Amino acid sequence: MPFADAKQDDTLRSWGLQPLPAPQTPVSIRSRHATLPRSPDKTMLPRGLGRSYGDVCLNGDGLLLMTDPLDRWISFDPLTGILQCEAGVSLDAILKLAVPRGWFPSVTPGTRFVSVGGAIANDVHGKNHHRAGTFGAHVRGFELLRSDGARQWCSRTSHADRFRATIGGLGLTGLITWAELQLQPIHNPMMDTEDLRMDGLSAFFDLADESDAHWDYTVAWVDGLASGEKLGSGIFMRGNHARPDDATPTTKKLRKPVEVPLHAPDFALNRHSIRLLNFMQDLKLRGDRQQKQIHFAPFFYPLDGVGGWNKLYGRRGFFQYQFVVPRSGQQSPVRDILRTLSESDESVFLAVLKCFGDAPPEGLLSFPRPGVTLALDFPNRGDSTLNLMKELDEIVFSNGGALYPAKDARMSPDHFRRGFPALDLFQTHIDPAFSSDFARRVEAIPPRNPS
Ligand SMILES: Cc1cc2nc3c(=O)[nH]c(=O)nc-3n(C[C@H](O)[C@H](O)[C@H](O)COP(=O)(O)OP(=O)(O)OC[C@H]3O[C@@H](n4cnc5c(N)ncnc54)[C@H](O)[C@@H]3O)c2cc1C
Repeated sequence: MPFADAKQDDTLRSWGLQPLPAPQTPVSIRSRHATLPRSPDKTMLPRGLGRSYGDVCLNGDGLLLMTDPLDRWISFDPLTGILQCEAGVSLDAILKLAVPRGWFPSVTPGTRFVSVGGAIANDVHGKNHHRAGTFGAHVRGFELLRSDGARQWCSRTSHADRFRATIGGLGLTGLITWAELQLQPIHNPMMDTEDLRMDGLSAFFDLADESDAHWDYTVAWVDGLASGEKLGSGIFMRGNHARPDDATPTTKKLRKPVEVPLHAPDFALNRHSIRLLNFMQDLKLRGDRQQKQIHFAPFFYPLDGVGGWNKLYGRRGFFQYQFVVPRSGQQSPVRDILRTLSESDESVFLAVLKCFGDAPPEGLLSFPRPGVTLALDFPNRGDSTLNLMKELDEIVFSNGGALYPAKDARMSPDHFRRGFPALDLFQTHIDPAFSSDFARRVEAIPPRNPS
């Protein structure tokens, strides 16, 4: 599959603008009662808000079932926090409904512009994985529409196997039309947070262990360009929802997102500009520890403050490389990865590090598992970037790790199979009319015979 060139239109692409799909036909799903299109010679794939970085949300030469019109509420119980809504509803809409009523999504990824269907199909995780597990752990059930017209209510007690296959099922088991979610109670929109300077990887693991018992949300920003004694240095961030008695509701107006109107020139993000950005981030933390109370939006969604920030990488787009590896004590394979990065000429913009908790995976293909995960953003510089990721693969897979499909645009079928040992069982749940560029690339489904 070709990678992006300079002239492709952005509609129906993925967030990393990589890879470039063959033409796709969008078909709007206007209601949860609608039927699926009949298309004997074309496969179909549900599409949420396109916030996946690679090709799990692409279906070249096929149909895309657009779920944005599936945006209706079905019911919300403010006493129990149980919400029923259509699958195209975004987390942004849920926050607007729930926060003023004292409820919050039990798990949220680093952007609120994801749909409920997309969050289930990638079984997304957040900064509270060590306490709450993944998004799927808080899904009470959903309706799945199959291409033969069957509608199945899937939950832990009804079609339980299909429930487990669809959570993290990459949109391949059918269309989720609506879902029932359990939200968590909060007292107000504020977060009590603490930022701590970390001077290396050992400090990260010490802080993660120490924080697990008392902090619901933990994550670290690591300077991917640091080397030598500074390897793994950065900022460790932790937070809890503010208690009723200690919240000072913000009087400051939340800043409106700034839009990036056009693709930046390809040279805008390079090793030097990134070093400058990392330095500026470092300056934000004065001293070794900073405690503050802030609104939930900048705590959970700092990147949403710049709309269309993916265009800063230019028309060639970028790759996100997110892996999980077992911890293996303080000498984690993460150290080898960071060393490899610091010795390479590639630029790494964001490097986000987090220890997952011990909760068993919710879905057959869920990515989170006990261990440590690192997410790296690389501007696409062609072969040199791909070669660096191959080097990183060696370290990840020789240590029993896996790559995250939601972020991936280039893993091999062998690496997919090694990272997701339940693949054979999962395949028995794939809807034969459903497919994606990702599924074909990693051979999650057998190639279709041309008719
Ligand atoms: C800034 C940013 C930060 C992020 N942070 C995190 C993070 O912290 N943790 C994390 O886990 N992820 C993170 N992500 C990734 C993102 O959460 C996932 O890719 C998510 O699945 C995107 O949802 P979407 O609605 O955009 O779905 P899409 O990207 O459009 O689709 C994702 C998958 O869901 C399937 N799908 C969509 N709707 C349905 C449906 N109704 N029925 C069946 N299948 C469906 C699609 O077929 C596809 O396979 C981040 C992404 C961005 C851009």
